Amino acid sequence: MIEQAIETLSDRTRILVFTGAGISTESGIPDFRGPQGLWKRFDPGDYTYDRYVNDPGFRIDTWGKRFHSPYLDAEPNDAHRAVTRLWDMGRLIGVVTQNIDGLHAAAGLGPDSLVEMHGNARRIHCISCGAEPRFSAVEERWEAGALDPECLECGGILKTRVVYFGEQLPQDATIRARNMAESADAALVVGSTLSVYPAAFVPLAVVDRGEPMVIVNRGRTDHDAHAAALVDGDAGTVVPALADRLAQN
Ligand code: NAD
Repeated sequence: MIEQAIETLSDRTRILVFTGAGISTESGIPDFRGPQGLWKRFDPGDYTYDRYVNDPGFRIDTWGKRFHSPYLDAEPNDAHRAVTRLWDMGRLIGVVTQNIDGLHAAAGLGPDSLVEMHGNARRIHCISCGAEPRFSAVEERWEAGALDPECLECGGILKTRVVYFGEQLPQDATIRARNMAESADAALVVGSTLSVYPAAFVPLAVVDRGEPMVIVNRGRTDHDAHAAALVDGDAGTVVPALADRLAQN
């Protein structure tokens, strides 16, 4: 119920917003486990770090999917913009996202307020020397025929900053998310089943400290039982409504 969510958050000024794939479906990007979820078309077991490093054919396939992705042009929606508004209103300690689509940044959240726990599909690096070529530069080389473009600094393997299965989460992201959770006075979860770990530990750490968690999600999550308020609805409608009401108190 939205009224219960507003009541829960009304006097909170250090809210940790935790977002998942569901916040971006209204931007046209499918989630993993919703009814149209990507898991119905892809096998998550295929996307392992070991396979990426050891199988050039898999890398060629992956770069093809990357640069042909219909989601590269996705734009932030009203939910991303409402989260930025909550930050601008001084209600948030920060935003931790599992998404790799860069849409929170595109909606105006700066690097100090945002932690991308699973990385960012628009950032590329060399797994050997750490060089960070521009996305557009690698895309141009790929279009010119370099189907598995190597690092121009050291010849190493290039990879997007997306965290694959079997790959460690970026350490700085983990530390910053933990610090936010340790001083948050509430968690607001938007569009996540809360079933991917260790990311899901972030809002749960807020609950463990005795602070309330509000969940805005279409359908059930794995941790509904821990929520002080549940709003079953569309993020693009509910989050702006929450921000409007919180702006009034
Ligand atoms: P998930 O797919 O497990 O869960 C998404 C949840 O959001 C579902 O319960 C779904 O019903 C709900 N939902 C869908 N549209 C919604 C909307 N408009 N409003 C409210 N709720 C909505 O997603 P997850 O928990 O984030 O875990 C999936 C993993 O997949 C994450 O690790 C993430 O990195 C990755 N992923 C990212 C993207 C992206 O970057 N946009 C897309 C797909 C998957």
